[in-house]
Amino acid sequence: MLYTCTRDHKEPITASEAICRGISPGGGLYVPESLPQYDAGTLSDMVLMDYRRRAKKVLGDFLTDFTPEEIDRCVESAYRADKFEGGHPAPIKELEKSVTMLELWHGPTCAFKDMALQILPHLLTCSMRRVHPDRTAVILVATSGDTGKAALEGFRDVAGTKVLVFYPRDGVSDMQKRQMVTQEGKNVGVCAIEGNFDDAQTAVKKIFTDEAMKQELAGHGMMFSSANSINWGRLLPQIVYYFSAYCDLVAEGTITLGETINIVVPTGNFGNILAAYYAFCMGLPVHRFVCASNENNVLTDFLQTGTYDKKRPFHCTTSPSMDILVSSNLERLLYAMSGGQEEKVCAWMRDLNEKGTYTVDEKTRERIQARFSAGWCSDEEAARTIASLQEEKGYLCDPHTAVAVCVYEKYRRETGDTHHTVIASTASAYKFPQSVLNALGEEMQGDGFALAARLAEKTGTSIPAPIASLQEKSVRFTDVTAVSGMREAVRRLAGI
Ligand SMILES: *Cc1c(COP(=O)(O)O)cnc(C)c1O
Repeated sequence: MLYTCTRDHKEPITASEAICRGISPGGGLYVPESLPQYDAGTLSDMVLMDYRRRAKKVLGDFLTDFTPEEIDRCVESAYRADKFEGGHPAPIKELEKSVTMLELWHGPTCAFKDMALQILPHLLTCSMRRVHPDRTAVILVATSGDTGKAALEGFRDVAGTKVLVFYPRDGVSDMQKRQMVTQEGKNVGVCAIEGNFDDAQTAVKKIFTDEAMKQELAGHGMMFSSANSINWGRLLPQIVYYFSAYCDLVAEGTITLGETINIVVPTGNFGNILAAYYAFCMGLPVHRFVCASNENNVLTDFLQTGTYDKKRPFHCTTSPSMDILVSSNLERLLYAMSGGQEEKVCAWMRDLNEKGTYTVDEKTRERIQARFSAGWCSDEEAARTIASLQEEKGYLCDPHTAVAVCVYEKYRRETGDTHHTVIASTASAYKFPQSVLNALGEEMQGDGFALAARLAEKTGTSIPAPIASLQEKSVRFTDVTAVSGMREAVRRLAGI
Protein backbone atom coordinates (compact mmCIF):
# COMPACT_ATOMS: atom_id res chain seq x y z
CA MET A 1 0.00 0.00 0.00
CA LEU A 2 1.32 3.44 -0.95
CA TYR A 3 0.69 6.86 0.57
CA THR A 4 -0.08 10.07 -1.22
CA CYS A 5 -0.11 13.70 -0.15
CA THR A 6 -3.33 15.70 0.35
CA ARG A 7 -1.87 18.57 -1.70
CA ASP A 8 0.09 16.74 -4.40
CA HIS A 9 -0.51 13.30 -5.93
CA LYS A 10 2.55 13.11 -8.09
CA GLU A 11 4.82 10.99 -5.97
CA PRO A 12 3.31 8.17 -3.89
CA ILE A 13 5.62 6.84 -1.16
CA THR A 14 5.83 3.82 1.14
CA ALA A 15 4.46 3.72 4.68
CA SER A 16 8.02 3.81 6.07
CA GLU A 17 8.83 6.97 4.13
CA ALA A 18 5.54 8.62 5.17
CA ILE A 19 6.28 7.85 8.83
CA CYS A 20 9.86 9.15 8.61
CA ARG A 21 8.83 12.39 6.94
CA GLY A 22 5.79 13.10 9.13
CA ILE A 23 4.64 15.91 6.83
CA SER A 24 5.19 16.30 3.09
CA PRO A 25 7.79 18.77 1.78
CA GLY A 26 4.97 21.01 0.51
CA GLY A 27 3.16 21.02 3.85
CA GLY A 28 0.44 18.49 2.93
CA LEU A 29 -0.42 15.39 4.94
CA TYR A 30 0.09 11.77 3.91
CA VAL A 31 -2.94 9.53 3.43
CA PRO A 32 -3.20 5.94 2.19
CA GLU A 33 -4.10 5.65 -1.50
CA SER A 34 -6.86 3.19 -0.58
CA LEU A 35 -8.19 1.65 2.64
CA PRO A 36 -8.35 -2.06 3.51
CA GLN A 37 -11.94 -3.31 3.64
CA TYR A 38 -13.24 -5.36 6.59
CA ASP A 39 -16.47 -7.31 6.04
CA ALA A 40 -18.64 -9.02 8.66
CA GLY A 41 -16.43 -12.11 8.48
CA THR A 42 -13.31 -10.09 9.30
CA LEU A 43 -15.07 -8.34 12.18
CA SER A 44 -16.31 -11.61 13.61
CA ASP A 45 -12.75 -12.99 13.49
CA MET A 46 -11.55 -9.87 15.32
CA VAL A 47 -14.17 -10.35 18.05
CA LEU A 48 -12.20 -13.39 19.17
CA MET A 49 -8.84 -11.58 19.29
CA ASP A 50 -7.25 -9.66 22.16
CA TYR A 51 -6.14 -6.04 21.72
CA ARG A 52 -2.65 -6.89 20.56
CA ARG A 53 -3.86 -9.26 17.85
CA ARG A 54 -6.40 -6.71 16.64
CA ALA A 55 -3.59 -4.14 16.46
CA LYS A 56 -1.38 -6.52 14.47
CA LYS A 57 -4.21 -7.15 12.02
CA VAL A 58 -4.94 -3.46 11.39
CA LEU A 59 -1.30 -2.30 11.33
CA GLY A 60 -0.27 -5.18 9.08
CA ASP A 61 -2.93 -4.24 6.52
CA PHE A 62 -1.62 -0.66 6.31
CA LEU A 63 2.13 -1.06 6.75
CA THR A 64 2.71 -3.41 3.85
CA ASP A 65 6.44 -2.66 3.65
CA PHE A 66 6.92 -3.90 7.25
CA THR A 67 7.59 -7.61 7.80
CA PRO A 68 5.11 -9.54 9.99
CA GLU A 69 7.95 -9.94 12.52
CA GLU A 70 8.43 -6.17 12.67
CA ILE A 71 4.71 -5.58 13.22
CA ASP A 72 4.73 -8.23 15.94
CA ARG A 73 7.68 -6.65 17.68
CA CYS A 74 6.26 -3.12 17.49
CA VAL A 75 2.89 -4.16 18.92
CA GLU A 76 4.29 -6.41 21.64
CA SER A 77 6.74 -3.72 22.81
CA ALA A 78 4.07 -1.01 22.91
CA TYR A 79 1.04 -2.58 24.54
CA ARG A 80 2.68 -4.44 27.41
CA ALA A 81 0.68 -5.19 30.52
CA ASP A 82 3.24 -3.37 32.68
CA LYS A 83 2.65 -0.18 30.68
CA PHE A 84 -1.12 -0.28 30.48
CA GLU A 85 -2.59 -0.70 33.92
CA GLY A 86 -5.10 -3.54 33.99
CA GLY A 87 -3.70 -5.29 30.90
CA HIS A 88 -6.33 -4.12 28.35
CA PRO A 89 -4.95 -0.96 26.70
CA ALA A 90 -8.42 0.34 25.79
CA PRO A 91 -11.15 -1.12 28.02
CA ILE A 92 -14.84 -0.23 27.66
CA LYS A 93 -17.09 0.71 30.62
CA GLU A 94 -20.85 0.91 30.60
CA LEU A 95 -22.08 4.39 31.58
CA GLU A 96 -25.74 3.56 31.00
CA LYS A 97 -27.59 0.95 28.99
CA SER A 98 -27.00 2.56 25.61
CA VAL A 99 -23.80 4.49 26.36
CA THR A 100 -20.29 3.03 26.63
CA MET A 101 -17.13 4.85 27.64
CA LEU A 102 -14.00 3.85 25.73
CA GLU A 103 -11.24 4.50 28.27
CA LEU A 104 -8.03 5.45 26.50
CA TRP A 105 -5.99 6.71 29.45
CA HIS A 106 -4.62 3.62 31.18
CA GLY A 107 -1.13 4.10 29.71
CA PRO A 108 2.05 5.60 31.19
CA THR A 109 1.02 9.27 30.93
CA CYS A 110 -2.70 8.91 31.68
CA ALA A 111 -4.05 10.35 28.40
CA PHE A 112 -5.13 8.77 25.13
CA LYS A 113 -1.98 10.01 23.39
CA ASP A 114 -0.19 6.96 24.84
CA MET A 115 -2.23 4.68 22.58
CA ALA A 116 -0.27 5.99 19.60
CA LEU A 117 2.89 7.35 21.18
CA GLN A 118 3.85 4.10 22.87
CA ILE A 119 4.03 2.46 19.45
CA LEU A 120 5.14 5.32 17.18
CA PRO A 121 8.82 5.19 18.29
CA HIS A 122 8.94 1.51 17.28
CA LEU A 123 7.23 2.19 13.95
CA LEU A 124 9.58 5.10 13.34
CA THR A 125 12.80 3.25 14.18
CA CYS A 126 11.77 0.34 11.90
CA SER A 127 11.03 2.87 9.15
CA MET A 128 14.29 4.77 9.65
CA ARG A 129 16.31 1.57 9.49
CA ARG A 130 14.79 0.87 6.07
CA VAL A 131 14.77 4.33 4.54
CA HIS A 132 17.42 6.46 6.30
CA PRO A 133 19.66 4.01 8.14
CA ASP A 134 22.38 6.56 8.88
CA ARG A 135 20.25 9.37 10.28
CA THR A 136 19.09 10.36 13.76
CA ALA A 137 15.41 11.34 13.82
CA VAL A 138 14.77 14.64 15.57
CA ILE A 139 11.17 14.59 16.72
CA LEU A 140 9.71 18.08 17.03
CA VAL A 141 6.52 18.28 19.04
CA ALA A 142 4.11 21.14 19.62
CA THR A 143 1.82 20.19 22.47
CA SER A 144 -1.41 21.46 23.95
CA GLY A 145 -0.50 19.44 27.05
CA ASP A 146 -0.82 15.70 26.63
CA THR A 147 1.09 14.93 23.42
CA GLY A 148 4.30 16.38 24.82
CA LYS A 149 4.52 14.09 27.79
CA ALA A 150 3.36 11.05 25.84
CA ALA A 151 6.00 11.69 23.16
CA LEU A 152 8.75 12.23 25.75
CA GLU A 153 7.83 9.01 27.50
CA GLY A 154 7.48 7.05 24.26
CA PHE A 155 10.78 8.21 22.74
CA ARG A 156 12.94 8.49 25.83
CA ASP A 157 16.25 6.68 25.34
CA VAL A 158 15.09 5.16 22.04
CA ALA A 159 18.30 4.76 20.01
CA GLY A 160 18.55 6.91 16.89
CA THR A 161 16.03 9.52 18.08
CA LYS A 162 15.92 12.86 19.89
CA VAL A 163 12.66 14.40 21.04
CA LEU A 164 12.07 18.14 21.54
CA VAL A 165 8.82 19.44 23.00
CA PHE A 166 7.38 22.97 22.90
CA TYR A 167 4.41 23.77 25.14
CA PRO A 168 2.47 27.02 25.68
CA ARG A 169 3.79 28.44 28.95
CA ASP A 170 0.39 29.45 30.29
CA GLY A 171 -1.72 26.95 28.39
CA VAL A 172 -1.30 23.61 30.18
CA SER A 173 -2.43 22.30 33.56
CA ASP A 174 -0.01 22.32 36.49
CA MET A 175 0.12 18.52 36.45
CA GLN A 176 0.71 18.40 32.68
CA LYS A 177 3.60 20.84 33.05
CA ARG A 178 5.09 18.89 35.92
CA GLN A 179 4.95 15.70 33.86
CA MET A 180 6.99 17.34 31.11
CA VAL A 181 9.59 19.34 33.02
CA THR A 182 10.56 16.33 35.16
CA GLN A 183 11.02 14.02 32.15
CA GLU A 184 13.92 11.60 32.38
CA GLY A 185 16.04 10.35 29.49
CA LYS A 186 19.22 11.31 27.64
CA ASN A 187 17.63 12.26 24.31
CA VAL A 188 14.83 14.58 25.51
CA GLY A 189 14.35 18.36 25.62
CA VAL A 190 11.46 20.56 26.78
CA CYS A 191 10.91 24.28 26.27
CA ALA A 192 8.00 26.60 27.12
CA ILE A 193 6.97 29.21 24.56
CA GLU A 194 5.41 32.61 25.02
CA GLY A 195 2.31 31.94 22.98
CA ASN A 196 -0.58 29.50 22.63
CA PHE A 197 -0.72 26.04 21.07
CA ASP A 198 -1.55 27.36 17.61
CA ASP A 199 1.55 29.58 17.71
CA ALA A 200 3.66 26.57 18.70
CA GLN A 201 2.13 24.29 16.06
CA THR A 202 2.47 26.86 13.27
CA ALA A 203 6.10 27.55 14.15
CA VAL A 204 6.94 23.84 14.36
CA LYS A 205 5.37 23.22 10.94
CA LYS A 206 7.45 26.09 9.50
CA ILE A 207 10.69 24.79 11.00
CA PHE A 208 9.90 21.34 9.60
CA THR A 209 9.52 22.54 6.05
CA ASP A 210 12.38 25.07 6.13
CA GLU A 211 14.99 23.96 3.59
CA ALA A 212 17.93 25.74 5.25
CA MET A 213 17.12 24.19 8.61
CA LYS A 214 16.78 20.75 7.00
CA GLN A 215 20.20 21.12 5.35
CA GLU A 216 21.70 22.17 8.64
CA LEU A 217 20.35 19.06 10.34
CA ALA A 218 21.42 16.83 7.48
CA GLY A 219 24.96 18.18 7.96
CA HIS A 220 24.85 16.68 11.46
CA GLY A 221 23.40 13.34 10.31
CA MET A 222 19.91 14.26 11.54
CA MET A 223 16.46 14.67 10.01
CA PHE A 224 13.20 16.04 11.36
CA SER A 225 10.20 13.90 12.02
CA SER A 226 6.93 14.52 13.77
CA ALA A 227 5.07 12.89 16.62
CA ASN A 228 2.06 15.16 16.19
CA SER A 229 -1.04 13.65 14.67
CA ILE A 230 0.01 15.01 11.29
CA ASN A 231 2.23 11.87 11.23
CA TRP A 232 0.44 8.85 9.75
CA GLY A 233 2.18 6.68 12.33
CA ARG A 234 0.23 8.54 15.02
CA LEU A 235 -3.17 8.16 13.41
CA LEU A 236 -2.95 4.53 12.40
CA PRO A 237 -2.72 3.04 15.92
CA GLN A 238 -5.81 5.06 16.84
CA ILE A 239 -7.92 3.26 14.25
CA VAL A 240 -7.37 0.03 16.19
CA TYR A 241 -9.25 1.00 19.34
CA TYR A 242 -12.46 1.84 17.53
CA PHE A 243 -12.52 -1.64 16.03
CA SER A 244 -11.54 -3.05 19.39
CA ALA A 245 -14.35 -1.27 21.25
CA TYR A 246 -16.88 -2.50 18.69
CA CYS A 247 -15.59 -6.07 18.96
CA ASP A 248 -15.68 -5.92 22.77
CA LEU A 249 -19.30 -4.70 22.64
CA VAL A 250 -20.20 -7.60 20.34
CA ALA A 251 -18.30 -10.07 22.53
CA GLU A 252 -20.17 -9.03 25.67
CA GLY A 253 -23.52 -9.12 23.84
CA THR A 254 -24.30 -5.40 24.18
CA ILE A 255 -24.68 -5.02 20.40
CA THR A 256 -25.06 -7.51 17.58
CA LEU A 257 -22.51 -7.84 14.81
CA GLY A 258 -23.42 -5.39 12.05
CA GLU A 259 -25.42 -3.04 14.31
CA THR A 260 -24.49 0.61 13.75
CA ILE A 261 -23.22 2.75 16.62
CA ASN A 262 -22.52 6.44 17.24
CA ILE A 263 -19.04 7.59 18.15
CA VAL A 264 -18.53 10.78 20.17
CA VAL A 265 -15.05 12.30 20.45
CA PRO A 266 -13.78 15.33 22.39
CA THR A 267 -11.84 17.03 19.63
CA GLY A 268 -8.93 19.41 19.18
CA ASN A 269 -6.61 18.65 16.29
CA PHE A 270 -9.19 16.27 14.74
CA GLY A 271 -6.86 13.25 14.91
CA ASN A 272 -8.84 11.00 17.20
CA ILE A 273 -12.18 11.46 15.46
CA LEU A 274 -10.53 11.13 12.06
CA ALA A 275 -9.16 7.73 13.08
CA ALA A 276 -12.76 6.72 13.90
CA TYR A 277 -13.85 7.95 10.48
CA TYR A 278 -11.15 5.88 8.75
CA ALA A 279 -12.38 2.84 10.71
CA PHE A 280 -15.85 3.55 9.31
CA CYS A 281 -14.48 3.81 5.77
CA MET A 282 -12.89 0.38 6.31
CA GLY A 283 -16.22 -1.18 7.28
CA LEU A 284 -16.85 -0.39 10.95
CA PRO A 285 -20.66 -0.02 11.26
CA VAL A 286 -21.14 3.62 12.33
CA HIS A 287 -24.34 5.65 12.19
CA ARG A 288 -23.00 9.09 13.16
CA PHE A 289 -19.90 10.80 14.50
CA VAL A 290 -20.34 13.58 17.03
CA CYS A 291 -17.48 16.07 17.18
CA ALA A 292 -17.40 17.71 20.63
CA SER A 293 -15.58 21.01 21.25
CA ASN A 294 -15.07 23.40 24.14
CA GLU A 295 -15.44 27.18 23.81
CA ASN A 296 -12.86 27.11 21.00
CA ASN A 297 -15.72 25.96 18.82
CA VAL A 298 -14.26 26.51 15.37
CA LEU A 299 -15.06 22.91 14.37
CA THR A 300 -18.67 23.14 15.51
CA ASP A 301 -19.17 26.14 13.25
CA PHE A 302 -17.35 24.50 10.36
CA LEU A 303 -19.29 21.25 10.52
CA GLN A 304 -22.58 23.16 10.76
CA THR A 305 -21.93 25.78 8.05
CA GLY A 306 -19.09 24.66 5.78
CA THR A 307 -17.07 27.77 6.66
CA TYR A 308 -13.89 27.43 8.71
CA ASP A 309 -12.95 30.70 10.37
CA LYS A 310 -10.03 30.82 12.77
CA LYS A 311 -10.32 34.59 13.24
CA ARG A 312 -11.86 34.50 16.67
CA PRO A 313 -10.73 34.88 20.27
CA PHE A 314 -8.62 32.05 21.68
CA HIS A 315 -10.01 30.77 25.00
CA CYS A 316 -7.97 29.07 27.71
CA THR A 317 -10.45 26.51 29.03
CA THR A 318 -10.49 23.73 31.63
CA SER A 319 -9.93 21.28 28.73
CA PRO A 320 -6.57 22.69 27.53
CA SER A 321 -5.75 19.81 25.19
CA MET A 322 -8.65 20.99 23.03
CA ASP A 323 -7.70 24.69 23.02
CA ILE A 324 -6.95 24.73 19.31
CA LEU A 325 -8.18 26.96 16.49
CA VAL A 326 -6.25 25.38 13.61
CA SER A 327 -7.24 21.75 13.47
CA SER A 328 -4.54 20.09 11.36
CA ASN A 329 -6.17 16.79 10.59
CA LEU A 330 -9.28 18.35 9.17
CA GLU A 331 -7.22 18.58 5.97
CA ARG A 332 -7.34 14.78 5.69
CA LEU A 333 -11.13 14.79 6.10
CA LEU A 334 -11.48 17.48 3.44
CA TYR A 335 -9.34 15.41 1.12
CA ALA A 336 -11.50 12.32 1.66
CA MET A 337 -14.82 14.15 1.51
CA SER A 338 -13.97 16.11 -1.63
CA GLY A 339 -13.15 12.84 -3.37
CA GLY A 340 -9.38 13.38 -3.28
CA GLN A 341 -9.33 16.70 -5.14
CA GLU A 342 -5.88 18.01 -4.32
CA GLU A 343 -6.38 21.39 -6.06
CA LYS A 344 -9.37 22.14 -3.87
CA VAL A 345 -7.55 21.12 -0.69
CA CYS A 346 -4.61 23.33 -1.70
CA ALA A 347 -6.87 26.30 -2.30
CA TRP A 348 -8.69 25.90 1.03
CA MET A 349 -5.42 25.59 2.95
CA ARG A 350 -4.03 28.63 1.12
CA ASP A 351 -7.13 30.62 2.08
CA LEU A 352 -6.75 29.49 5.68
CA ASN A 353 -3.15 30.61 5.68
CA GLU A 354 -3.68 33.94 3.93
CA LYS A 355 -7.19 34.99 5.01
CA GLY A 356 -7.74 32.88 8.12
CA THR A 357 -10.89 31.37 6.64
CA TYR A 358 -12.23 29.16 3.84
CA THR A 359 -15.56 27.76 2.71
CA VAL A 360 -15.92 24.31 1.19
CA ASP A 361 -18.17 23.63 -1.80
CA GLU A 362 -21.74 22.51 -1.22
CA LYS A 363 -21.18 18.91 -2.22
CA THR A 364 -18.25 18.48 0.19
CA ARG A 365 -20.26 20.12 2.97
CA GLU A 366 -23.24 17.84 2.36
CA ARG A 367 -21.06 14.76 2.40
CA ILE A 368 -19.52 15.78 5.69
CA GLN A 369 -22.85 16.61 7.25
CA ALA A 370 -24.32 13.28 6.19
CA ARG A 371 -22.00 11.61 8.71
CA PHE A 372 -20.82 14.25 11.25
CA SER A 373 -22.73 16.16 13.89
CA ALA A 374 -21.06 18.74 16.09
CA GLY A 375 -21.58 20.65 19.29
CA TRP A 376 -19.71 22.50 21.99
CA CYS A 377 -20.08 23.32 25.65
CA SER A 378 -18.77 25.89 28.12
CA ASP A 379 -16.50 25.22 31.10
CA GLU A 380 -19.54 25.59 33.39
CA GLU A 381 -21.48 22.95 31.46
CA ALA A 382 -18.49 20.61 31.51
CA ALA A 383 -18.15 21.13 35.27
CA ARG A 384 -21.85 20.35 35.80
CA THR A 385 -21.38 17.19 33.74
CA ILE A 386 -18.41 16.08 35.88
CA ALA A 387 -20.54 16.60 39.00
CA SER A 388 -23.61 14.80 37.70
CA LEU A 389 -21.65 11.81 36.38
CA GLN A 390 -19.91 11.48 39.73
CA GLU A 391 -23.06 11.90 41.81
CA GLU A 392 -25.52 9.95 39.69
CA LYS A 393 -23.36 7.26 38.14
CA GLY A 394 -20.27 7.12 40.34
CA TYR A 395 -18.18 7.77 37.21
CA LEU A 396 -15.19 10.08 37.62
CA CYS A 397 -14.27 11.86 34.40
CA ASP A 398 -11.83 14.54 33.30
CA PRO A 399 -12.87 17.89 31.74
CA HIS A 400 -12.17 16.75 28.13
CA THR A 401 -14.30 13.66 28.47
CA ALA A 402 -16.96 15.77 30.21
CA VAL A 403 -17.17 17.99 27.12
CA ALA A 404 -17.90 14.90 25.03
CA VAL A 405 -20.56 13.60 27.42
CA CYS A 406 -22.23 17.02 27.65
CA VAL A 407 -22.29 17.51 23.88
CA TYR A 408 -23.63 13.97 23.41
CA GLU A 409 -26.47 14.63 25.89
CA LYS A 410 -27.44 17.76 23.96
CA TYR A 411 -27.26 15.82 20.68
CA ARG A 412 -29.51 13.08 22.03
CA ARG A 413 -32.04 15.58 23.38
CA GLU A 414 -32.17 17.37 20.03
CA THR A 415 -32.30 14.32 17.75
CA GLY A 416 -33.83 11.52 19.82
CA ASP A 417 -31.15 9.28 18.30
CA THR A 418 -31.11 6.01 20.27
CA HIS A 419 -28.23 4.18 18.57
CA HIS A 420 -25.78 2.60 20.97
CA THR A 421 -23.10 5.22 21.57
CA VAL A 422 -19.39 4.97 22.33
CA ILE A 423 -17.82 8.06 23.93
CA ALA A 424 -14.04 8.40 23.84
CA SER A 425 -12.74 9.04 27.36
CA THR A 426 -9.44 10.72 26.70
CA ALA A 427 -7.69 11.50 30.00
CA SER A 428 -7.55 10.57 33.65
CA ALA A 429 -9.25 13.09 35.95
CA TYR A 430 -6.00 13.15 37.93
CA LYS A 431 -4.27 15.15 35.22
CA PHE A 432 -6.69 18.00 35.99
CA PRO A 433 -7.32 17.74 39.73
CA GLN A 434 -7.98 21.47 40.19
CA SER A 435 -10.75 21.71 37.62
CA VAL A 436 -12.27 18.39 38.61
CA LEU A 437 -12.34 19.21 42.34
CA ASN A 438 -13.86 22.61 41.63
CA ALA A 439 -16.52 20.90 39.52
CA LEU A 440 -17.26 18.62 42.46
CA GLY A 441 -17.87 21.67 44.63
CA GLU A 442 -14.53 21.95 46.44
CA GLU A 443 -13.00 25.41 46.64
CA MET A 444 -9.54 24.05 47.47
CA GLN A 445 -6.62 25.58 45.50
CA GLY A 446 -2.95 24.90 45.33
CA ASP A 447 -0.45 22.12 44.97
CA GLY A 448 -1.37 19.48 42.40
CA PHE A 449 -0.51 16.56 44.64
CA ALA A 450 -2.56 17.81 47.57
CA LEU A 451 -5.44 18.28 45.14
CA ALA A 452 -4.96 14.78 43.73
CA ALA A 453 -4.97 13.33 47.25
CA ARG A 454 -8.20 15.16 48.04
CA LEU A 455 -9.76 13.95 44.79
CA ALA A 456 -8.89 10.36 45.68
CA GLU A 457 -10.40 10.75 49.13
CA LYS A 458 -13.55 12.39 47.83
CA THR A 459 -14.27 9.92 45.05
CA GLY A 460 -12.90 6.70 46.54
CA THR A 461 -10.62 6.21 43.50
CA SER A 462 -6.85 5.97 43.58
CA ILE A 463 -4.20 8.26 42.11
CA PRO A 464 -2.67 6.57 39.04
CA ALA A 465 0.91 5.48 39.74
CA PRO A 466 2.48 7.63 36.97
CA ILE A 467 0.98 10.76 38.59
CA ALA A 468 1.77 9.79 42.18
CA SER A 469 5.42 9.12 41.31
CA LEU A 470 5.95 12.62 39.87
CA GLN A 471 6.14 14.05 43.34
CA GLU A 472 9.63 12.63 43.90
CA LYS A 473 11.01 13.78 40.56
CA SER A 474 13.06 16.95 40.20
CA VAL A 475 12.59 19.65 37.58
CA ARG A 476 15.04 19.28 34.68
CA PHE A 477 13.75 21.85 32.17
CA THR A 478 13.11 25.54 32.81
CA ASP A 479 13.70 27.09 29.34
CA VAL A 480 11.21 29.64 28.03
CA THR A 481 11.44 31.19 24.56
CA ALA A 482 9.55 33.62 22.35
CA VAL A 483 8.13 32.04 19.19
CA SER A 484 10.87 33.85 17.25
CA GLY A 485 13.47 31.99 19.32
CA MET A 486 12.21 28.50 18.56
CA ARG A 487 14.74 27.79 15.79
CA GLU A 488 17.57 28.60 18.16
CA ALA A 489 15.96 26.40 20.82
CA VAL A 490 15.82 23.53 18.33
CA ARG A 491 19.54 23.92 17.65
CA ARG A 492 20.34 24.07 21.33
CA LEU A 493 18.20 21.07 22.25
CA ALA A 494 19.40 19.01 19.28
CA GLY A 495 22.99 19.83 20.25
CA ILE A 496 24.07 21.44 16.96
C1 LIG B 1 -5.25 15.58 22.52
C2 LIG B 1 -6.46 15.47 23.35
C3 LIG B 1 -7.75 15.65 22.83
C4 LIG B 1 -7.97 16.06 21.39
O1 LIG B 1 -7.65 15.04 20.49
P1 LIG B 1 -7.39 15.37 18.93
O2 LIG B 1 -6.94 14.10 18.34
O3 LIG B 1 -6.34 16.44 18.91
O4 LIG B 1 -8.68 15.86 18.37
C5 LIG B 1 -8.83 15.44 23.66
N1 LIG B 1 -8.67 15.10 24.95
C6 LIG B 1 -7.45 14.93 25.50
C7 LIG B 1 -7.34 14.58 26.94
C8 LIG B 1 -6.31 15.10 24.73
O5 LIG B 1 -5.09 14.91 25.27
